[in-house]
Amino acid sequence: MSSKSSTSQAVCPICHKPTIDQFRPFCSAHCSHIDLGKWLNGQYALPDKESDPENEKILLENHKTRLDQNDSIG
Ligand SMILES: [Zn+2]
Repeated sequence: MSSKSSTSQAVCPICHKPTIDQFRPFCSAHCSHIDLGKWLNGQYALPDKESDPENEKILLENHKTRLDQNDSIG
């Protein structure tokens, strides 16, 4: 119960940069989206590339497709 000062800076699990409070536990919304996309796709692996604008587009399209399928089934 002593002074609770967390000196150890957390890092983004995606790109290992220092995290930003606003996007914890990530460093940015971009990394947050990457992590979410990996869970959705069921393939949680270590990042291999740096920020890829095309990668984000693919994630969005995958998400849209899934929503579409769910809608048809429902
Ligand atoms: Zn990051």
